[in-house]
Amino acid sequence: MNVEAARKTFASAVQATEHFDVLIVGAGISGIGSAYHLTKQLPGTSFVILETQETFGGTWWTHKYPGIRSDSDLHTFGYSFKPWVGPPIATAAEILSYMGEVIEENDLAKHIRYKHRILKANWSSKTNLWTIEAERTDSGEPVKITANFLWMCQGYYRHSEGFTPEWEGMADFEGRIAHPQAWPDDIELDGKQVVVIGSGATAATLIPNIADTCAHVTMLQRSPTFFRLGRNAIELAEELRRLQVKEEWIHEIVRRKILFEQDAFTRRCLAEPEQVKKELIGQIAAVLGPDYDVGTHFTPRYRPWRQRIAFVPDADLFHSVKDGKASVVTDEIERFVENGILLKSGRTLPADIIVTATGFNLSILGDIAFVIDGEPLDFADTVTYRGMMFTGIPNMAWVFGYFRASWTLRTDLVAEFVIRLLSHMKKKGVRKVMPALRPEDHNMPLLSWIDPENFNPNYLMRDMHRLPRRGDKPEWQHSQDYWAEKDQFPAIDLDDKAFVYS
Ligand SMILES: Cc1cc2nc3c(=O)[nH]c(=O)nc-3n(C[C@H](O)[C@H](O)[C@H](O)COP(=O)(O)OP(=O)(O)OC[C@H]3O[C@@H](n4cnc5c(N)ncnc54)[C@H](O)[C@@H]3O)c2cc1C
Repeated sequence: MNVEAARKTFASAVQATEHFDVLIVGAGISGIGSAYHLTKQLPGTSFVILETQETFGGTWWTHKYPGIRSDSDLHTFGYSFKPWVGPPIATAAEILSYMGEVIEENDLAKHIRYKHRILKANWSSKTNLWTIEAERTDSGEPVKITANFLWMCQGYYRHSEGFTPEWEGMADFEGRIAHPQAWPDDIELDGKQVVVIGSGATAATLIPNIADTCAHVTMLQRSPTFFRLGRNAIELAEELRRLQVKEEWIHEIVRRKILFEQDAFTRRCLAEPEQVKKELIGQIAAVLGPDYDVGTHFTPRYRPWRQRIAFVPDADLFHSVKDGKASVVTDEIERFVENGILLKSGRTLPADIIVTATGFNLSILGDIAFVIDGEPLDFADTVTYRGMMFTGIPNMAWVFGYFRASWTLRTDLVAEFVIRLLSHMKKKGVRKVMPALRPEDHNMPLLSWIDPENFNPNYLMRDMHRLPRRGDKPEWQHSQDYWAEKDQFPAIDLDDKAFVYS
């Protein structure tokens, strides 16, 4: 059933409405982490998690392509409260198992309702409640729930389909086209010529994991990407384990070490980008040898850290290239042809299978239609309060993690803020909170949500006009800076005039 049809079915259905203090959207790593903090820090709060998919995991359930793994370490991508005991770069299966343990150990399963897709969120200032309209994805049955507070943990991209550009001649191609986000169960790679379009973390993961099976795999990129190479192990963790230090301590110590080093690395990227660039490319050149054209294929045109830098454990991608099982072509697509891809250079890349590792479709607020007191919400009309709340949207917080550090670090910080806010509202005896520009903010220039000079991945650039705006003061910016926010968030004055209570 499409979203519009489902909304109509919903409207005609009459049924009882359940109520919860908090409704969490999504059972990915953010939703489960937020639920954990809520149960520990505000016990007694009634809440429900609604999740479209049939189980928890979000990103780690959706993606099933060969080799699917994290590109940041699990000491910081994992939760602060649950030690990560495996190698730092983890497979999706390992992350799902870790999340499953968190759910079990904290008795969270009873709060989660799977196969519930939220279609509409309707705020009423008369009742100070959100009314959530959802549908059961198995039966189409409409579900209606009211909640005081909406905790948006829906991630940032549409899980149902990835982004595939339209290339001329796609229909002429006689082979198979697959997107990594919807990896087909029945795809036969044995002895096939495979072209992977893209050079981000997904391509870098997929290629070494299929290179042994295919006849050959080619990474076709328009322009190169930065990578970091290293062993999939943390020496300090290994040493502490040898010393039989408790896993809780190892987790905390290794987190601190990683965060310290990431901070230093980020600063170096800003202070001496050319030197960092040389070092990153030097790591690749050291694997591929002096005869490889690193200048053409692995020398990006942008500064390090303007896009996320994927970590390549044990340099597996580069070993596949060195062994001749994979190769890299840096060129542009002219059109698809019957037997492959015709490039702008005039060369044809033969292919039996083309994998479009071309990214995501941004999903703004989980594709939920928001209505505030009868008016449809245009998210682009709002101004972000530190990337967590928005002017004109009451009783709602949004979890959007870090790009340059692990996403989950921000899940923990936002959770701490939301819990403080909910407790503050209880103490004040108020039922509504909404960020609003203060008198001193009214002449503030309003800019795009993220500064493209600072960070500019394509999926954000394509949809920047649909996202909230930012001002020129820290309160009204989404800084993407963990090292600033970890001190700023706990110090936020909840009685600041930026919060309007009633
Ligand atoms: C392949 C891949 C690898 C990545 N690796 C890393 C990494 O190593 N490190 C890192 O920091 N980040 C990584 N990221 C970014 C990653 O998406 C986040 O780090 C993190 O997993 C996001 O978690 P989340 O819970 O916020 O969102 P998601 O994982 O996207 O989960 C959101 C959930 O909300 C549900 N949902 C959405 N809308 C609705 C609705 N309307 N109704 C009901 N349910 C809804 C979805 O079904 C989904 O299950 C990666 C992303 C991808 C795609």
